[in-house]
Formats: sequence, structure tokens, C-alpha cells
Amino acid sequence: MNLCDIKTIRQLMAMFSLNFRKEFGQNFLTDNLVVEDIADSCCDNADSTILEIGPGVGSLTKELALRYRKVIAVEIDNGLIPLLKYTLDEHKNVKVINDDVMKINLPELLSEPFAEGGVSVCANLPYYITTPIMMMLLESGLPFEYITIMIQSEVADRLCAKAGNKAYGAITAVLNYYGTAEKLFTVKSDRFVPEPKVDSTVIRIKLHKEKPYRPLDEATFFRTIRAAFEQRRKTLPNALSAVFGELSKEEITNIITEKCGLPADIRGERLDTAQFTALSDELFKAIGK
Ligand code: SAM
Repeated sequence: MNLCDIKTIRQLMAMFSLNFRKEFGQNFLTDNLVVEDIADSCCDNADSTILEIGPGVGSLTKELALRYRKVIAVEIDNGLIPLLKYTLDEHKNVKVINDDVMKINLPELLSEPFAEGGVSVCANLPYYITTPIMMMLLESGLPFEYITIMIQSEVADRLCAKAGNKAYGAITAVLNYYGTAEKLFTVKSDRFVPEPKVDSTVIRIKLHKEKPYRPLDEATFFRTIRAAFEQRRKTLPNALSAVFGELSKEEITNIITEKCGLPADIRGERLDTAQFTALSDELFKAIGK
């Protein structure tokens, strides 16, 4: 059964009395080569377990099952569960779970696979919840090796942007704290059913085993990044003053120029994650005084 064939997908949906559910971001892949490319590139260790978020009709799940030790696929739509049982019947290394990935207990679900051979994540994510799912995975503290996700191209540009680039934002600086993101390839919107309005890009995040940035206080670090981008047109002293009420603008300007060696008229969007770490450390020390 070719799970990327549009006719087959429609037949399967009809067989199980299902409609494509917009509220769950159901746009299914219809290109075998794309599915195989994602499965090939999402991890370099065949002994790994892959956590797949949103298997849909199981096209990517099947390819993952052929390449890796085990696949744990979490699908929110209970209507798809009998369909997945049917399409994935021959793949005994696949476990399908009917749940919302934002609510499931991942440490409990993955404790064995982490001990066995490691875990990576692979998903064609629903657009409406891309950032929350990615942040939940990063903030979970779980030692994933890779997180490979297909997302809107515009979001991929933002996540992979360099400091100073127009697309660079708070989310980019935060992502770089947890890992390194790279764009793998772009997928045109006509490779899905139903067709979404925009193209998608597959990105792969390699999580840092040892974090290269170690801020004195994580909360101040995230607060500094948020403040710098909240009003990105403002210079850094003005943007930080609006949020760090504990310090005077003069103190903040002094930290930026004297302690961090940056120009007073710099904007937050020019700072990379290492510079945000140094800046937040100085702010944290000054607040504590
Ligand atoms: N992997 C399939 C493919 O590439 O054809 C389907 C991808 S489709 C864009 C997104 C899938 O994620 C759908 O099957 C949808 O029901 C599921 N989904 C949406 N929100 C979810 C959530 N919070 N937890 C688990 N699955 C979710």
C-alpha cells in the first residue's frame, strides 16, 4: 500500500469514515521521496527510538520503522487510531499512542528507549502548534539527540537565522541555547493533501550534549532575550530599561558598554546567544547587589 498516493489516502479516510481535520493541522504528505528523505536524515543511529508526533495515515511512520529500532507515534486524533493499526500492521516495532503530545508524560514514556539506544524526534508538525511543541521538547530537558521537524518555511527561516539578520528573533537565540538548527530541504505546498497555503521546510536540530552557554541564572537569561526583542526597534538600553525596572537606565547602559563592550546604540537583534549570556550575567550580578 502506497501511503503517499492521494487516491489511497482518500480511500483510507473514507474506509474509516474520517475527514481531514483542520483543527489538528492535518495536511498529509503525498511524496514518497520526501518521506524517505526525512526518514533518512532524521537520525544517524539505527539503534535509536524515534518519537513521531502526529503520524497521520502512517506514511512517515512506516519509513521510520524500516530504519530505526523502534517508533513511538503519538497521534491526537482518535479517529486515526484504527486506520494506523491497519496501515502499520506489519511493523511490529511501532507503538501508536492516542494522546496529545503536549499532555503526555514524555519522561515516563521514553525512559526505556533512552536507556536502550537513545531517542530522536521526527515530525511533520501541525502549523498551529509548531513553536509550543518545539519549545516543550527543548525545555523538557530530555536528552534527545536530534529533533527533525517539518514546519512552515517562514518559521524555519526564523529558527535558522544568524544574529543581525531580519529573521533573527528571540526564538532563534533561545533555540541556539539548546542546540544547533540546520535547514535540510524545502517541500512545496503541492506535495500535501489537502494543500496548505504555504511551503514547508524540514529542519534538524542537533541538541547540545553539553550546553556551550551557561548563564548564571536561566530566568534572567530568558528575560534578557525577551526584553531585547519585545521592542526590537528600540536600542538595547531602552529595550532593557522597559523590563528591568530594578536598574536605572544609566546602570543598564554602563553594563552594555563597559562590562560587555558593546556600543550604546546597539539593537538586541545583533546579539548572539553567547553575548546574551554575558549580558544577562552582568544584569543578574547588578540586580543582586
Ligand atoms: N505525519 C503525517 C504526514 O506527514 O503525512 C501527518 C502530518 S499532519 C501535518 C500533523 C499530524 O499531527 C496529524 O495527524 C494530526 O492529527 C497530528 N496532531 C496534531 N496536533 C497534535 C498533538 N498535539 N499531539 C499529537 N498529534 C497531533
